Amino acid sequence: MHFTELGIDTRLEKQLAHQGITQPTDIQAHAVPTAIAGHDIFAQSKTGSGKTLAFLLPAVQRVMKQKALSKRDPRVLIVAPTRELATQVYSQLRLLIAGTNISAVKVLGGENFNDQIKALRKDPHFVVGTPGRLADHLSQRSLQLSGLELLIFDEADRILDLGFTDQVKMINELADHRLRQTLLFSATLDHAQVDALSRNLLRSPKQILLSASNEQHSDITQQLYLADHLDHKEALLEHFVKQDNVGQCIIFTATRADTQRLSQLLNDKGFKAQALAGDLTQAKRLEIMDAFSRENFKILITTDVASRGLDLLSVTHVINFDLPKHAEEYVHRIGRTGRAGFKGTAISLVGPKDWPSYKAIKAFLNDELSFFTVDGLVGKFKGLREKKPNTVWKKAEKKVAAKPAKPKRKAAPKKPKAPIQAPIDVDGFAPMRRKKKPEQE
Ligand code: AMP
Repeated sequence: MHFTELGIDTRLEKQLAHQGITQPTDIQAHAVPTAIAGHDIFAQSKTGSGKTLAFLLPAVQRVMKQKALSKRDPRVLIVAPTRELATQVYSQLRLLIAGTNISAVKVLGGENFNDQIKALRKDPHFVVGTPGRLADHLSQRSLQLSGLELLIFDEADRILDLGFTDQVKMINELADHRLRQTLLFSATLDHAQVDALSRNLLRSPKQILLSASNEQHSDITQQLYLADHLDHKEALLEHFVKQDNVGQCIIFTATRADTQRLSQLLNDKGFKAQALAGDLTQAKRLEIMDAFSRENFKILITTDVASRGLDLLSVTHVINFDLPKHAEEYVHRIGRTGRAGFKGTAISLVGPKDWPSYKAIKAFLNDELSFFTVDGLVGKFKGLREKKPNTVWKKAEKKVAAKPAKPKRKAAPKKPKAPIQAPIDVDGFAPMRRKKKPEQE
């Protein structure tokens, strides 16, 4: 199938061909014609499925072909949960609109507010941003949405998980007019808050449900390794990163401090590694991501902050040095590899502290994740034993079944050994309190 068959303009199709993109993915084949037809969309799409183009293509096409509602206000607003994802969306948008007179502005937290005001004054057609900063501009009226035609939420579940419900409501209210079209993309649709949001935001939406977020990624091989303690994890990590088949690799840790520590450790061992954590300035984060995408270094060590929005085809391995607390985050992390038809490997190190997360992920994926071992690095930890409250309960049940229980006799009320003199209060009643037992008893 060609993009023109989905109603996409030949100029856009050529632009895609320059990027080597010739066939629409599933989500694009479903979402693009639905959005062009003017419907609201509530779409579930797995990470790496091509969802960004699924909303960018109809958006750009609309701006190209249809008359604007307002000359001043942005025509399309794209809201993404993190700076990294917003930057990723913006980059893809810039490629699509290259050589056209369509303009776009990126509005992220951590960047200069006044520069953003200046850019917004130029009346861009597209605004791509993170919810907090967008809300700040709306409050200051440096961004107005009364003429907005298309409102797009990318990874709406994540936006809400990060606590941006009020900002989303604000955006919705300030862009609330009859002609607005809304597209909502989420990794999961069975998320109570996303569900509630969709009812407020969308009008008779078309649901696009292509893959459940807990569906296995066929292009990603998942391997788990048991680890006794931190030193064991580090030894395993070193073993994996030096394998020949590792191209670029992203290592996820639970804490920022660990990103620094592991980066130091790997550099000391002669690997080119850099830490990317949320406490870096936006400029520094972009610099590191840019260097990684240019393959200037091999290993990126990060926390969940960067787990979305990193879209690099050269990432062959994702290593979970620690497992994430939320099972859905696991899916997003491993989705940093095996993108756009490439194969990837996701390795997870599971120590005693990771065990509850492992159980949650296993239940979420509804799958028996396999444990592997590395010769010479097999530890003692074999998983935590299940608590067995049921066994005790069952035994008790059996006993009951074998001997019909005697009717319980009421325990006779305890007689006080010494007569208790109820002290009389001034009102003539005994105060409502229990008397202490005499000490000698
Ligand atoms: P996304 O799910 O939007 O993050 O996209 C994942 C990757 O797939 C990106 O590198 C896109 O450039 C790429 N991509 C998107 N659509 C297609 C397509 N139709 N054919 C090949 N690659 C694609």
